[in-house]
Amino acid sequence: MDKVLLYSGGMDSFCISKLEKPDINLYINLRTKCAEQELKRIHKLGTDIKVVIDNRINLADQEMASYTVPLRNLILICIGAFYGNEIIIGSVKGEYNTDTDENFRAKTQELIQYLLIDGAKNPMAWKDKTAPFIVSAPFVNTTKTELVQRYIEAGNSVEDLLKHSVSCVAGTEIECGECASCFRKWAALTNNDIQGTFMKDPKLSAEKNMKYIADSIKPEIERALSK
Ligand SMILES: [Zn+2]
Repeated sequence: MDKVLLYSGGMDSFCISKLEKPDINLYINLRTKCAEQELKRIHKLGTDIKVVIDNRINLADQEMASYTVPLRNLILICIGAFYGNEIIIGSVKGEYNTDTDENFRAKTQELIQYLLIDGAKNPMAWKDKTAPFIVSAPFVNTTKTELVQRYIEAGNSVEDLLKHSVSCVAGTEIECGECASCFRKWAALTNNDIQGTFMKDPKLSAEKNMKYIADSIKPEIERALSK
């Protein structure tokens, strides 16, 4: 059974890779605006994380103003199934997209199991028909702050975390400090007494970004703002 982490180049997937130690870290290059910066960081990794880069599709024309791509995780999991039979999604608490929730994971797991493993009449059935197909999200109830804390407690390097991950959606060399992704990353780092590097102080975008922050992670953000 091969465990495949859907690796995005972001802080969460970097920490999860170190904690979960998947067989394959898979970066699927969707050619979206952040792809260039994500790939730069991945190429510079210089750590024990080895990333497989899959360039087979281009979804740039589907990228929305909010930087999301419709059906993103469904497409990523389908491609992930070419590499292994457990797919790990790097979601943390506070993400409410339907393509990360329990219902989505169960349905996708069932469908791929049906197509690739249970498909006795199915010519595309997988080579290993006995293995179950699993879609997991082991940190879905963990906040970003707790994820960083666990990463550090496991003896991993803070310097590597800052150097080798990019979470910003702006696609700039230095993370913008204004987008919701930067804001949440800043909060998780601040709560762990780590100073990140951003073009603008994320604290200044607090008012704008607090509107997007779900109630479940408000205490995490408020803790960072009070520091
Ligand atoms: Zn940003």
